[in-house]
Amino acid sequence: MKKITLLATALLIGLYGTSNLLAAPIPIGTPSSEADITSALTGGVPGGRWKEGLLFEGVRPMPWLKSAANWFPGTEEVQPHEMRVTFMGTAPNIRPGQMNTSIYVELGNGDNFVFDMGEGAVANYVAARVSLNQIKHVFLTHLHVDHFGSLPYLWMFGTWAGGWHEPLTIHGPSGRTSEYGTKTMVEGMAMMLGWHKDAFSVFPVGKGWDIQVNEFDFRDNGGVVYEKNGVKVIHWQRSHAKDGASGYRLDWNDMCFVWTGDGRPSKLDLKYAKGCDLYVTELQPELMEINSGVQGVPPFLARYTVDTHHTPAYASGYLANQIKPRMFMTTHMNFDPFLNEETVAEVREHWKGPYHFGAPDGIVVNMTKDLVWVREGILPDFPNSRAPQFDFTNGQLIVPHPPTSRQEIQEPFVREQQIDPKLYYPKGYMPHLLEEWPVDSDLVVPFDLLPENLKESMGAAWRQKQENLKMLEAQ
Ligand SMILES: [Zn+2]
Ligand SMILES: [Zn+2]
Repeated sequence: MKKITLLATALLIGLYGTSNLLAAPIPIGTPSSEADITSALTGGVPGGRWKEGLLFEGVRPMPWLKSAANWFPGTEEVQPHEMRVTFMGTAPNIRPGQMNTSIYVELGNGDNFVFDMGEGAVANYVAARVSLNQIKHVFLTHLHVDHFGSLPYLWMFGTWAGGWHEPLTIHGPSGRTSEYGTKTMVEGMAMMLGWHKDAFSVFPVGKGWDIQVNEFDFRDNGGVVYEKNGVKVIHWQRSHAKDGASGYRLDWNDMCFVWTGDGRPSKLDLKYAKGCDLYVTELQPELMEINSGVQGVPPFLARYTVDTHHTPAYASGYLANQIKPRMFMTTHMNFDPFLNEETVAEVREHWKGPYHFGAPDGIVVNMTKDLVWVREGILPDFPNSRAPQFDFTNGQLIVPHPPTSRQEIQEPFVREQQIDPKLYYPKGYMPHLLEEWPVDSDLVVPFDLLPENLKESMGAAWRQKQENLKMLEAQ
């Protein structure tokens, strides 16, 4: 054995030694003339001197991006002056690569806003390392289920995962009659979740169940839905077969984001989205016949659905050309090779400026006053949740006392049938079981007494926010 090792070592030394001796040195030449260097290295490429392609001035990656090609969740903090927009759900037809519509807007001041919360989208928030207890404001464009299907999960599990100190607020339109308004939908959802809510009341809840509804009059075009910390959100009516559908515009830090939601192209969109930096609308390509063959939707049904509810691709380009955003994006569209080229051609009929798809899921937009860049986010298939995020400004973690106990919501019989843990844990091993909530009142933990790993993980977003606010104040 020893002999073989020695032999191998000798061979290795021999091989590497020889190759080192034989390696050619890196050559050193005489520098070329500056004129030659310039003509070769910037010949035929703009080198920042003129506009290139369709990505006009101001459309390029920021120096602080870890990779100009892709966004990896958890690797880039939102910058103090940045508005970041992530497409968390991008299609009306749910399928593994495309959840139902949801757009996440993060601001450099630490605020975040969710626009629509379609079925399945919550999985992409988890993959993007957003803790569910960080989401406090959801704006619904309308009450089609592909725009709010994830709400029950967000509410219940967002509360479980630390949503204890600030209730979830749902902003949404009134209906033609009160039964069709956002408030009634949320009341109905609460009723549907009755069992779940009561069952989860053995956990800390705090303000988690006090869901708030900010229902605005859908006819009040241009009305303010939200205004706080320099953020303003307004709404206007969309023609989407039934009264109540609305579009939103968010303004902050001299930047503007519009999400129209679903609807037919309208003069109101031109009025309220005019000049917005990032204009996002929905889109349906003009391919009813082929679409039916591929997607199985009968052509007459597709035609009728689009002509009564949606924005054709040609119309989206027409609107963009009037609105003239710094970046135009479309979402709520199937992302398929047979559709994509056609979609671009139809949009380009009218709009020649910067354009990207807000699809498939995970597309990220970084925007500052000067620059905008769009990348594919790399969302893992099997992500784990980020720790709940808490605001430690008060120097404490407060864990509210659970509103109920198992004894109050479960008859004793079924608990008595539980197998004695001593029978299944291995001999000599018996964990300290938490079969009852261990304290009698709210648990108040001074920040300094928190274990280091919890300070680190649960305070990360709070620390980042403090840093950003300091930088924003200094400027
Ligand atoms: Zn929809
Ligand atoms: Zn809709």
